[in-house]
Parts: sequence; C-alpha cells; structure tokens
Amino acid sequence: MRWVIPSPVYDVYEWQDDALCRRVEPERFFHDDSLRRIEQRRREASAKRICQRCPVIQECLEHALQTEAHGIWGGTTPAERGRIRAARAARATSMSASAEAAEPA
Ligand code: SF4
Repeated sequence: MRWVIPSPVYDVYEWQDDALCRRVEPERFFHDDSLRRIEQRRREASAKRICQRCPVIQECLEHALQTEAHGIWGGTTPAERGRIRAARAARATSMSASAEAAEPA
C-alpha cells in the first residue's frame, strides 16, 4: 500500500520520494537512547553512510535544520545540526553588522 500525501503538503515533502532511508529500518536513523553508546555510534555511522549516497541529502539537511531535533537527517546528528544552525546564525549576524557599517551616515 502506498500512502498519498495531499497537496500542497506533498509539494513540500516530494523530495522524500527519492530518500534512500525509505528502504531501510528506521531504527538505524532513530536509535533508542537506552542503547549502549557504542551501539548508538555504530548505528549513526551506518545511517550516515546511507545519507552520503542519497540523492536528496541537501534537501533533507535543509528540512532538518528547520524542523528536526531527533535522529539522523541529511547525514547529520542533532548535535551537528545545532552547530550548523549556530554557525549560520553567527554568519547572518556578522553580515548584518557589516551591512550596517557600510551604510552611509
Ligand atoms: S539524506 Fe539520509 S536521512 Fe535524508 S532522505 Fe537521504 S537517506 Fe534519508
């Protein structure tokens, strides 16, 4: 059975049709916190290897940076996405400050 997502929601998530993770067990991408740390790392690494071959990794990562707090998305862990968000915020603040400094008085 194939689920059909109604438009316009489908338009936003259409990229997921090509997601490689659709073909593997979700536990690889969303591990149980009760697992030993070494097993969590092993599953994360396994999921990331799949992501590196995924044709929609960039769309997935951008989506995850907006909304996803758990699991492996776009080849990143939640902590890695947090660092990307922080770096982007710092860059935006820096660019804004530079633009203000360049404005004529
Ligand atoms: S990048 Fe990874 S998590 Fe994202 S759709 Fe592809 S396989 Fe799934």
